Amino acid sequence: MEIDAAREVRTTCPYCGVGCGVLAKIAADGQVSVRGDPDHPANFGRLCSKGSALAETIDLDGRLLHPEVYGRRAGWDEALDRVASTFSQTIAEHGPDSVAFYVSGQLLTEDYYVANKLMKGFVGSANIDTNSRLCMASSVAGHRRAFGSDTVPGTYEDLELADLIVLVGSNLAWCHPVLYQRIAAAREKRPEMKIVLIDPRRTMTADIADLHLAIAPDGDVALFTGLLAYLGQHNALDRAYIAEHTTGFGQALFAASKLDLAGIAEATSLSEDELGRFYGLFARTEKTVTVYSQGVNQSSSGTDKVNAIINCHLATGRIGKPGAGPFSVTGQPNAMGGREVGGMANMLVAHMEIENPAHRARVRRFWNAPSMADKPGLKAVDMFKAVGDGRIKALWIMATNPVDSMPDADAVEAAIKACPFVVVSDVLASTDTVRHAHVRLPATAWGEKDGTVTNSERRISRQRAFLPTPGEARPDWWIIAEVGKRMGFGEAFSDASPAEIFAEHAALSAYENDGARDFDIGAYAGVDVEDYDGLAPFQWPAPSQSPPTTTRFFANGNFYTPDGKARFIPIRPATDTRTDEKFPLILNTGRVRDHWHTMTRTGKSPRLSQHIAEPFVEIHPADAQRFGIGDADIVRISSPRGEVLVRALVTLRQRQGSLFAPMHWTDQFAAKGRLDALTASLTDPVSGQPALKHVAVRIEKF
Ligand code: SF4
Repeated sequence: MEIDAAREVRTTCPYCGVGCGVLAKIAADGQVSVRGDPDHPANFGRLCSKGSALAETIDLDGRLLHPEVYGRRAGWDEALDRVASTFSQTIAEHGPDSVAFYVSGQLLTEDYYVANKLMKGFVGSANIDTNSRLCMASSVAGHRRAFGSDTVPGTYEDLELADLIVLVGSNLAWCHPVLYQRIAAAREKRPEMKIVLIDPRRTMTADIADLHLAIAPDGDVALFTGLLAYLGQHNALDRAYIAEHTTGFGQALFAASKLDLAGIAEATSLSEDELGRFYGLFARTEKTVTVYSQGVNQSSSGTDKVNAIINCHLATGRIGKPGAGPFSVTGQPNAMGGREVGGMANMLVAHMEIENPAHRARVRRFWNAPSMADKPGLKAVDMFKAVGDGRIKALWIMATNPVDSMPDADAVEAAIKACPFVVVSDVLASTDTVRHAHVRLPATAWGEKDGTVTNSERRISRQRAFLPTPGEARPDWWIIAEVGKRMGFGEAFSDASPAEIFAEHAALSAYENDGARDFDIGAYAGVDVEDYDGLAPFQWPAPSQSPPTTTRFFANGNFYTPDGKARFIPIRPATDTRTDEKFPLILNTGRVRDHWHTMTRTGKSPRLSQHIAEPFVEIHPADAQRFGIGDADIVRISSPRGEVLVRALVTLRQRQGSLFAPMHWTDQFAAKGRLDALTASLTDPVSGQPALKHVAVRIEKF
């Protein structure tokens, strides 16, 4: 592409789900600079440390710049032919479910759309899942159970309008920093705004909280079922809303009443006084937003946690109104876009359902698809188990590094190593996953490619190219479409630009959509290249027939269930003890402020590495004493699956009996620092999301 050195290019940050607008500029000497886009409605000019350092991470060091086939450099034709012929042959010999795609919330919507279309409509399998399964699958499942659709009801503005913000399992200060800054600014203007943090750790987010509840790991179900019971006992229900707009309240309240306050206190490790303060605050504050992220989702009871929270909002009618609602914030830049194109094994495109024959028939008609998948495929953890036991014989991994990021990572690595045919498309030449690929396909990176992403408030923004394409790298959508053509599906994969793919995606969202589906961006079905180039950030829904009148869903009390009513889900708090004498501590995993995932990008910036330079574990002083550990000691953490060596940080921020360690470091950055060698493949039974925040381990001085 031709580069205009004089112009600032409007694009979007490739890290977290806040989806901040970025202005990128190349100076005459080739130096790139970035600043926050003052006109972007997600950030209004703000950027966090990671976003501000983007220009430091775009060098070509370590890039994969040419296709490789079985370890030698190859041309695109040879590499693409090899991928297409091996997938076709495997499908012919073993059936469509013998192949799989494992994709990523880092892909742009257009990439995701083409990958999902190829697998679900043309290969005829739903074996496409994503690292977003590790991020927010429980929220998707909870939304669908309650609303009949995977709909995030609110907007970021609600966080500024609320009188009470309840942050559950969410270290917003480090993981969604610009959203945290927006809340902090709103609170400065309205000091009466109250903030409650529910988190086993006293994270940096606690600095802004009026009340920090250091809850027991996975105590959230008990806490929110207890809240529902409290609302019933204290005349704090919106009975008219419940009667008119919901079903199942009686059963949910009955299930919630199983534990009395003393029982909730025991299950949550919170005092009755703390519970009373939180419950009272929630009961009397009409404008309440409950924000939740991985502490809720990454759990064996993640979907129940989500529904326990939503139950409380439905019971008080606090949904779809300014400053009120449950609010799931996503970890990745395009987890939401992936959901919109159905890029998960149990979803269909445009928020349709794979189990619904009418939905499958509609998509088949639109795509003119020869072999639609007719059942859900394998979710991430089960997918890699199927790779390991030989059911999946050809695997294509795109834009993610599962050898380091999947739970029980050593088993995942062994499975990938044993797989007869592994393709990896990536920007880097030597991640722990790329190393095992038989075919390596060089993908374009942030700044080199065009497309769209959707942030946590359903806002679709453009990512725009402003750098030249290096080597022979190609955009993911192009690579996938070329393979589709070579598998014999030429006509269906003839879109020649991201603009054409986006227009097709928008047209499908509106296809036979009479308002029965939430995701509709039909207003953009006719975009051409010029419109797409100038596309300003917008929130869906954006239907073609009626211009959007509200940015909030459910303002009218109508939901996407068959009877139009939201569903209360009866939730029974259950205790879950995973520790024993051998592994007596619970390890909680998460992010630090200045690194991202497995550090393949942020590890390039010395400035970002200055914040925290090495992997660590937080441990309470009493536990440190019990296990003979001093501050800054090197310690070994072990689980039944593996071990890591990290530095001990003895701190009262940590709960007794629990540890916290960040997920980012791999063996590339720290010897024996690969945390997911410890984590387990235990998942939530509804969402399939792994319980990455509750792993039984032991600790000892090294
Ligand atoms: Fe990027 Fe998230 Fe930081 Fe915004 S808050 S600059 S999207 S990492």
